[in-house]
Amino acid sequence: MLWKGRRQSSNVEDRRGQFVRGGTAIGGGGIIMALIAVFLFGQDPLVVLENLQQQSGAVQRSDQPYQPSAQEQEVFNFVKVVLADTEDTWGQIFQQAGQRYIPPSLVIFTDMTPTACGTGQSASGPFYCPGDQKIYLDLSFLNQLQSMGASGDLAVAYVIAHEVGHHVQTITGVSSRIRELQSQSGRSGVNALQVKMELQADCLAGVWVQHTQKRTQFLESGDVEEAMQAAAAVGDDNIMRKSGIPPRREAFTHGSSKERMEWFNRGFKARTLEDCETGV
Ligand SMILES: [Zn+2]
Repeated sequence: MLWKGRRQSSNVEDRRGQFVRGGTAIGGGGIIMALIAVFLFGQDPLVVLENLQQQSGAVQRSDQPYQPSAQEQEVFNFVKVVLADTEDTWGQIFQQAGQRYIPPSLVIFTDMTPTACGTGQSASGPFYCPGDQKIYLDLSFLNQLQSMGASGDLAVAYVIAHEVGHHVQTITGVSSRIRELQSQSGRSGVNALQVKMELQADCLAGVWVQHTQKRTQFLESGDVEEAMQAAAAVGDDNIMRKSGIPPRREAFTHGSSKERMEWFNRGFKARTLEDCETGV
């Protein structure tokens, strides 16, 4: 992906090193525990997030200055370019539909941070909070993504574009429609609806890649494959297998690796946004 020297978003909030937990930090074990909670009990990641908050005590401000490595700072700058690309591309798509796109902020944090959806934790992975319309990302997740078998700049861009997809769903009212349907469903219905929402966010990430390519010619060879690999890595069946849990469809909240790749690809090839409709 060609990104150096391109516009960086001013909607990135740098909260690295600003907050710590009262007690000890959650490490990799906490992440696995959170994933097991999501898959075994079919919990909404946001609920897990709140539970972790209750377990982990108060968030405290840290007065330690944060010193990122040169490599981390490069990733930070890259994220700012990707967010700027989502602003420009979605701005254009909305404008063509006679609407105005109001972009989300992206908060880069370490360890934990307060959000309108409870305490955001690294253990939860990147997420979008509709309450404050912000995306939360701990850059250490990107190392985790690599260890799950997805690397490369478009893999990272896909993750951000997926979260921006949730913001688009919030603006268009898809999120609230799904939440309403979920409130009338049992557990398996709630999960099935959640899968539809997540696959649509993958489709919207594909739409973003397609339109950004038309606008900027930013793709290099192998980039789309990187995004597809990332979509496969975060498939429910893959994560469950990696966590030692046999995959069960009823417990899926995001879709299988195959579905996530299909929906990303559907967006990448979409002729109109309607190609990302999931039937809710
Ligand atoms: Zn999502």
